[in-house]
Amino acid sequence: MQSAADRREALKAVYEQARGCEKCPQLAATRTTVVFGAGNADADLMFVGEAPGANEDKQGLPFVGSAGKLLEKLLGEIGLARADVFIANVLKCRPPGNRDPHPTEIEACQDYLWRQIDLIQPLVLCTLGNFSTKLLRGDPTGITRLHGSAEVRVIGPRAVRLYPIYHPAAALYTPSMLDTLRADFARIPGLLAQPAPDQPEPVPEVEPEVVQVPAAEPEVEESVREADQLGLF
Ligand code: URA
Repeated sequence: MQSAADRREALKAVYEQARGCEKCPQLAATRTTVVFGAGNADADLMFVGEAPGANEDKQGLPFVGSAGKLLEKLLGEIGLARADVFIANVLKCRPPGNRDPHPTEIEACQDYLWRQIDLIQPLVLCTLGNFSTKLLRGDPTGITRLHGSAEVRVIGPRAVRLYPIYHPAAALYTPSMLDTLRADFARIPGLLAQPAPDQPEPVPEVEPEVVQVPAAEPEVEESVREADQLGLF
């Protein structure tokens, strides 16, 4: 059983691997930063969005544009702040022109997300929109049918309450969608108050594959960004 401090250190090690990732040649060539995710590394509530946009790519942090501002506002309405939760995305790199993630990219990137979930150990895993909902449920059912209902799902080695809701970007310009999103947000405190789901029997540990990423000399600006991102864990 790892302590929260051990899990936080392990999360930093995953970030170190991810920040030099070149698994998707186009994304590696066009991104400014790898947006690993940010927040409380021991959060009970974790959000998973789709992929970084232009602002996130520049700042190296998830959900810092207009959808992020809305997410933060909705969190505030249920008494939570960004620092209470962990926010990540299906893809850690911005798809050029904000195109949809390609299936090959989702597949290449998913191990980082599984590691994040495994280490953060959230009680409630809130998927924002179709991409994260479909990936984490392993099923093509869309968000319109699923939003607002939680279910216990085993993801990797852990059972979590998976809670699909609309992506805040979808609610930015559609008042009825915003009402729905707000109503779905209002159920989050109740989900967090429920007992933790029973965990499956742990499987014997296998030695993790360690990918050595040569440490590049960081530019000053880059090291500031890194500190920002890690500082929030
Ligand atoms: N939309 C997302 O899905 N993720 C972000 O980080 C920003 C916008």
